[in-house]
Amino acid sequence: MLQLWTAVRKVPTWVFPAAIGLFVLVLPLLGPGYELTRQIELTLILALVVSGLNISLGYAGQLAIGQAAMYAAGAYTAGMLSSAGHTDLLLQIVAAGLAALAVGILTGIPGLRLGSWSLAMTSFFLVLLVPDIVDIFEEDTGGHLGLSTMLNPTLFGRSLAPDAMYYVIVIVAIIWFAVFRNVVASRHGIAFQVLKQSPVLASSVGMSVFRTKLTGYAIGAVPAGFGGALLANLDLFVTPEAFTFHMATGALAASILGGSMSVYGAVFGASIIQFNNDQSSNFAEYSLVFFGAFLLIGGVLLRGGVAGLLRTGIRRLDRAAGLWPRRPAGAAGGGEAGGGAADAVDLPPIEGGALEVDAVAKAFGGNRALREVSLRAEPGQVTALIGPNGSGKTTLLNLVCGFYRRDAGRITVAGTAIDGASPHRIARLGVTRTFQTPLIPPGVSVAEVVISGRYTSDEVGFLSAVLRGPKFRRIRRHDLARAEDMLRLVGLAHLFDTEAATLPLGQRRMLEVARALVREPKVLLLDEAASGLDEAEVETLAAVIRRIRDAGCAVILVEHNFGLVLSLADRIVVLARGAVLAEGTPEEIENDVRVRDEYLGIVEPGDAPAVEEAGTLPERTAK
Ligand code: ADP
Ligand code: MG
Repeated sequence: MLQLWTAVRKVPTWVFPAAIGLFVLVLPLLGPGYELTRQIELTLILALVVSGLNISLGYAGQLAIGQAAMYAAGAYTAGMLSSAGHTDLLLQIVAAGLAALAVGILTGIPGLRLGSWSLAMTSFFLVLLVPDIVDIFEEDTGGHLGLSTMLNPTLFGRSLAPDAMYYVIVIVAIIWFAVFRNVVASRHGIAFQVLKQSPVLASSVGMSVFRTKLTGYAIGAVPAGFGGALLANLDLFVTPEAFTFHMATGALAASILGGSMSVYGAVFGASIIQFNNDQSSNFAEYSLVFFGAFLLIGGVLLRGGVAGLLRTGIRRLDRAAGLWPRRPAGAAGGGEAGGGAADAVDLPPIEGGALEVDAVAKAFGGNRALREVSLRAEPGQVTALIGPNGSGKTTLLNLVCGFYRRDAGRITVAGTAIDGASPHRIARLGVTRTFQTPLIPPGVSVAEVVISGRYTSDEVGFLSAVLRGPKFRRIRRHDLARAEDMLRLVGLAHLFDTEAATLPLGQRRMLEVARALVREPKVLLLDEAASGLDEAEVETLAAVIRRIRDAGCAVILVEHNFGLVLSLADRIVVLARGAVLAEGTPEEIENDVRVRDEYLGIVEPGDAPAVEEAGTLPERTAK
């Protein structure tokens, strides 16, 4: 049995959905009858709509529930084109996708600007508006009676036979799901997941949060538009009744039940909803209740939906057959990496830049977190920032990264002032960081987490991610090689394929260092990188930080472990109550009376590490 499984797993994974797609395509040869073909057609159209939700809601984490409106936009675009004599199906499908995309962009801009709940409201009202809009343009849309003037579709100048629509629908679905899969597996798909985990994280790797949100939301609209065009041509009739709130809820239920963070989950979810819809009239009557129940089942009991269940099953079999966890080709035996691991990897020189903070102030209401703080961090040096809890260290890092706006002062990176720049622009200037509470998106492998740090290096367009041409493959190979290097550097290469979010705290911290480093930053900000690490990990971390410094990067180390700070830092800046208390070399700071009183008096050097437990500040830093 397990041998059989091992053999099955040798087959590339895309073969299975491709085989199923092919089977569905040739199904009419087996004479399945009208009922079944009709069900398959409707299921695939619904699956297209649902797959859009999986992108915007499942992957990108945007509360978009207006798929029914995009679906309507597609259907009416196709319907009106057809009524006007433009019967070419390809033209209609493309136009419908573009129309849905336009609706997505137009509604996404205000909705996303205002925050996630307003997107939910905007998209919700969009669905409620469909019948009204249809009525307003009654002459073209047929109003509430429906659009019944559509002509028989043609393809490449030939009239389509009635049962040819089946093939068109299946082929559109196959192409779309292949595209969807490629997008999800590319760094754009990972970018959506990074965004979903935390906008702060997303901008720290150089992604524009707004643009990525809008992309996710707008791309999700496209397959709904395709679905609309197909539905219109299937019955040569468009009625507003097909795009009600009821339909929107059904699509949402299908997405969650099938597994919204998955590609083929959309097909599973759509099959369940569509077949149930048809099977019993009771179901149709009480469908909202059923949808609600499905939402609960999908959301609470069956997290990850049917696709998640399938994934767990596959993982179990893999484990049993010894196929999991996999090791990357280059990793040596997978033993726990010790302090010397970092030496094995070649870290190319990094063009560092100085960070200058000049008289910066920041207050939260009446709480003056920082008052006139100035410091300078040179490239090729470790500048440690120490001070008791609440002295403003994280706030300073957040100002440098642009997450907070400072009240006064000036910050420059490698000579460029970052006045008022948005966080992703500052990231693109070469500033990168780790977080006091590690931010690692769930469901993403260790390697992909590191690769997500390369979002701004070797940029890959959407189209090339979809087509996977030679350039895409070259960059992908480079991504993987760089990820492996960085992971070897921090001693995590043996965990290459593991789901990153399941790692213990120490390893997640090291992983963040790898992700930050893969971009070859000018300035690297480490926020309490050693807290929660065991002794061996601290040693690895220290070795890694030395390598980064020697490579030329300006390292700012916020740290409570005074021993580590003394051994690593070239300069130390001591903050207390939002102001610089002292600054100097490790010897100077160690012997500074005020520092001894103010800081070391509070925290005994012996038990200095891990005074600030990971759970204390996440809400503030992770927002
Ligand atoms: P540290 O990292 O040195 O422990 P922080 O920079 O996190 O200190 O906090 C400095 C001060 O600023 C604290 O008094 C904290 O309560 C306050 N503070 C930090 N972030 C926020 C925020 N987003 N809103 C309100 N107060 C904040
Ligand atoms: Mg802090």
